[in-house]
Amino acid sequence: MQVRIIGAHSLDSKHAHHNCFLIDECTAVDAGSIMSALGADEQERIEAVLLTHHHFDHCRDLPTLALNNLDAGRTVQVHGEPPALRTTNTLLLDGRIYTDATKVPEPGVSPPLSLRPFAIDETREVLGYRVSSVRVDHPVPTMGYIVSSGGLSVGFSGDTGGALMGFFTHPTPPDVLLIDVKLPERMRDEAERQRHMTPGMLRQELLAAKEAGVALPRLLAVHRSLREEPELLRELAALQTELNVDLEPGYEDMVIG
Ligand SMILES: [Zn+2]
Ligand SMILES: [Zn+2]
Repeated sequence: MQVRIIGAHSLDSKHAHHNCFLIDECTAVDAGSIMSALGADEQERIEAVLLTHHHFDHCRDLPTLALNNLDAGRTVQVHGEPPALRTTNTLLLDGRIYTDATKVPEPGVSPPLSLRPFAIDETREVLGYRVSSVRVDHPVPTMGYIVSSGGLSVGFSGDTGGALMGFFTHPTPPDVLLIDVKLPERMRDEAERQRHMTPGMLRQELLAAKEAGVALPRLLAVHRSLREEPELLRELAALQTELNVDLEPGYEDMVIG
């Protein structure tokens, strides 16, 4: 299994994209950049999307993916928690602002997107991958995922202000965990309100894990704010040195596995 980082930031620009990851070219975790950052041939190889929550930076490209699928007569599975699927469908996919993504276009033809409700703490097979959901901490219902195949497990925290212990103590703990570290310590109050992490909040999570004696995976900090990035990178480097953990920033086009 190989995971490519498509987007490692909380905003979109020419060279940085919304948090988004691609597993073996066929399964995307979130859909914030699958159209804006991938070529047409890469978009056509996507067969499934694992949606962490309905915030726009994570579901934005689903309507255009649906239109592509409609033209090509393909269906992409979209897995997610029922509230995330409901909200995304109501606001983006039900045909009012763009194509109706879940409607059967004509008898015998499958819809562009197939919404597949995924419960918290559920494990299922998606395209041959073992996928487990993990509850995280965000203002709207949000879940992270652990995806395993071929001896590698990769965790995706989704947007979260903490709650990493659910990954560290999971029966299939990730070898690598992509985590939301959006803002620098100076903006801690705002991060706590938005339920994203700062390096200081991550420090607390890692110290608690060390105290509990759980093994820490390789950690890649993503969903970083572009505006505050230099400050954030300095703080992440200092945290890596202080705790002597395998922690580094994830970047667009980085490949894991
Ligand atoms: Zn969010
Ligand atoms: Zn986000």
